[in-house]
Order: sequence, then C-alpha cells, then structure tokens
Amino acid sequence: MHVNSIEHIAIAVKNLDESINFYENTFGLKCYLIEEVVDQKVRTAFFNVGGTKIELVESTDSQGTIAKFIEKHGEGIHHIAFAVNDVESSLKELESKGIKLIDRTPRPGAEGLDIAFLHPKSTLGVLTELCKEKLKDK
Ligand code: ZN
Repeated sequence: MHVNSIEHIAIAVKNLDESINFYENTFGLKCYLIEEVVDQKVRTAFFNVGGTKIELVESTDSQGTIAKFIEKHGEGIHHIAFAVNDVESSLKELESKGIKLIDRTPRPGAEGLDIAFLHPKSTLGVLTELCKEKLKDK
C-alpha cells in the first residue's frame, strides 16, 4: 500500500455551528461544505488546510459513535485519515500484517469516497481511516 497524504483529520465536536464559527473566527479558515452522512449519523463541516482537510464532526444521534466518543473522551481529535490509491487492497495487506480492521470491506464515506477504519488497538491508540484518493477536479 502507499499512503499519498493525510486526507483529513476529524475532530469530534458537540455543536457543529458553534465550532464552525470558532474555526472561522479563530484561525481565519473558511468552511466550504457542510454535509450530513446519514449512514454514520453525523453532520460534518469541511475546512481546507493546505490540501489536508479538517473535518468537524457532530453526532446527529445521541447513541452514535461520535456522541459516545465525546461522552468518554470529551471533544477532540477523533481520527486521522490516510489517502490511499486502493482501499480494498490496502485492507487486505494490513490484515495480512495482523492489523485489526473495523471495516473488512470499504464503505461510502463523506463526499462519496470509499473509506474503511482500522482498529485503534492495532494503530497506537489512534483511530485510523483509509480513504480513497480523490481524483483532482481538473
Ligand atoms: Zn474520516
């Protein structure tokens, strides 16, 4: 497998709108998209920081994984996502190296890209996501 870049860093927040304001007013970053991913029970706000996205993630369900994360850890970094060319073959390779997978096959994530999560117990305590490299618009 080949990791091309940090595709995004996801930060769990309690209130998306307040957090967007915080990022815009504090760091001068501009939110360019707000998207609800029904499948994952989240609402996400995207910021572009030099080609790496920061995603603020709010739970839309008190039983969702983000809500449970905040209950346990408070707000903070939820996961890091690596852009790879092929999520499926990367999963197979990692599994063969003994890495515990949360998703054994890719599923659709934000922006319709294939994603899969690795288990944090296998990745130094950091929930790690593989994300299909997005083809550039041009
Ligand atoms: Zn993610």
